Amino acid sequence: MAVSVPPPRPNRDSVTTIREDGSRPFMFPADTHGRFTRARRISAYVLIVFYLSLPWIKINGYPAILLDVAERRFHLFGLTFAAQDMWLLFFVITGLGFSLFFITSLLGRVWCGWACPQTVFLEYIFRRIEVWIEGDAVARRALDAAPLSAGKIGKRACKHAVYLVVSAVLTHLFLAYFVSVPEVWAMVRAAPSEHWSTFVFMTAYTGLTYFIFCWFREQVCIVICPYGRIQSALTDDNTVTVGYDTLRGEPRGKAGTEGVGDCVACNKCVQVCPTGIDIRQGLQLECVGCTACIDACDDVMTRLNRPLGLIRYASQNSLQKKSTRWVRPRTVLYAILLAVGASVAGWAVSTIKPANVGVTRMVGAAYIIDREYIRNQFLVRLVNKRNTPTRFVLALEAAPPHLRQAGFAGAIEVPPLGEVAAPFVLQQPRHDYTGPFHFTVRVQDEGRTFFVERKVEFLGPEARLLREAEEDEKAEHAHRKEK
Ligand code: SF4
Ligand code: SF4
Repeated sequence: MAVSVPPPRPNRDSVTTIREDGSRPFMFPADTHGRFTRARRISAYVLIVFYLSLPWIKINGYPAILLDVAERRFHLFGLTFAAQDMWLLFFVITGLGFSLFFITSLLGRVWCGWACPQTVFLEYIFRRIEVWIEGDAVARRALDAAPLSAGKIGKRACKHAVYLVVSAVLTHLFLAYFVSVPEVWAMVRAAPSEHWSTFVFMTAYTGLTYFIFCWFREQVCIVICPYGRIQSALTDDNTVTVGYDTLRGEPRGKAGTEGVGDCVACNKCVQVCPTGIDIRQGLQLECVGCTACIDACDDVMTRLNRPLGLIRYASQNSLQKKSTRWVRPRTVLYAILLAVGASVAGWAVSTIKPANVGVTRMVGAAYIIDREYIRNQFLVRLVNKRNTPTRFVLALEAAPPHLRQAGFAGAIEVPPLGEVAAPFVLQQPRHDYTGPFHFTVRVQDEGRTFFVERKVEFLGPEARLLREAEEDEKAEHAHRKEK
């Protein structure tokens, strides 16, 4: 009979999952049952379906999310963004950042415990597979400590085979966010030699997914994720987190012992913790807010017929019998930044057009003068962000009446998600010319569903200099005639 290896004793001076000699004790958190476990399970499976179905759901003819990096086209919930729209990314990232700041200042690491893909996939896919094949926490720890045997090799081989298959499936679904589901399917059916680079990338990424969820696990949250590290800068004593009621629980001791608090030192809250900490030692960097310890302790309290909530969602102030302030400088500041960011992002998204239009001056001379005209040459670049061909027409606005356009005759058809650059020339009769002027190039689709305007300057010499040059030309001409 194998001896179960107990987890290391948690303490606040070191990370529980790293021993003094630097080795890594593997965590075998026990399963929990209770209201938070049920709610988290429902939320996790809804999220898993959501994460995995986005590349399959079509909106406006494209997957709900398709980040087509190769073509520099990004389809997000029916909106199409081109490379030229990347400035919006600034507002999206800062908006998400401030949202996270705001939520963290109010509710701690609720994102980590309830919605982060790392937690959701680890706890509700990979840990479930492990429990299904190797058994509960005690059985898993015993199996880990047991010498090699046919049974151990069989169970471990089975687990790792399933892990590899699941990692490969998740990786391919992840790839579908970048190249679409049909493309992934075509790649899967083709020989690796037809797409070596993608094949190598996918193999490496499958290996990484397997490594993270099979072995590295909670270390992602503790060692790599920067969010956990900055939480102490985002939270304070009014932030609601998973916390232990020291006033009620201490001094801990066996049920029935005189003078002890409600904590019976059963260690159930430690046994269920996926990061191996003891929440009774206070809020710690390793706590991902998974609520497992709440359910574990509530179960103990129920058996002892005592009130629930010895461990509960509460602020440090509330645990000290002080009031919790929801409105405070940091929450107000984060809320203002969030509101400003969301407003700007909303406005920026509303300005997105189904096409991008750029009007630039052609390289070379700024203007050309001949006997009759002054000419300027331009290049109009049209990017069609729709998935249907679009015909564009060009018009000049606020321009002098005799300004003529050549080169951009009729409509120009731009293929779906295509790009066309078309030169055009503007010519102004010399006798009408009164100096450089500004005008507007208006580009619209033939169906007139939208238009884009660009302000452009027509360049030429100062009118006075042009007239003087003309006088000189005339004088020279007359002089030649006299001769
Ligand atoms: S589960 Fe509750 S009673 Fe048991 S040790 Fe943890 S806090 Fe104390
Ligand atoms: S202390 Fe509780 S809430 Fe925090 S990670 Fe451990 S079990 Fe989850």
